[in-house]
Amino acid sequence: MNTLIVCPGCGSKNRIPADKRHLTPKCGRCGVSLVGAPVSGIVNPLTDAQFQQRVERSTLPVLVDFYSPTCGPCRTIAPVVDTLAGLYAGRLLVFKLDTSTQQMSAARFGIRGVPTLLFFKNGQMVDQLVGAVPRAEIEGRIENLLA
Ligand SMILES: [Zn+2]
Repeated sequence: MNTLIVCPGCGSKNRIPADKRHLTPKCGRCGVSLVGAPVSGIVNPLTDAQFQQRVERSTLPVLVDFYSPTCGPCRTIAPVVDTLAGLYAGRLLVFKLDTSTQQMSAARFGIRGVPTLLFFKNGQMVDQLVGAVPRAEIEGRIENLLA
């Protein structure tokens, strides 16, 4: 299976075969190292410090799962978010942000409870879902985001 890495330098999409991931991949367009860059197809951990670069400057639409490790409903939707990240590989970037350690982004976007899912397109927050909503609801919002 190929994974897709969005270049942190130029924003171009690089397809990396799974068996080459152990090598140190570089962007095919600008040559910047892709080590540690977010991967489409999986849920990437996110920090406050990375938020602007990885979410607001992403060339792919983005879903951010604001969660807390001690929150039961968060654990309920985590595997759903995992599954959807795989399903939308190459079309969507998915992140999870631990609000117990990363509080700046949650404050900035007025997150009042977890889990909260925020949807971004072209650097703008365009949609959100609060609580452990059903998979079909999340999928519908992703379809809207990609439309
Ligand atoms: Zn590049």
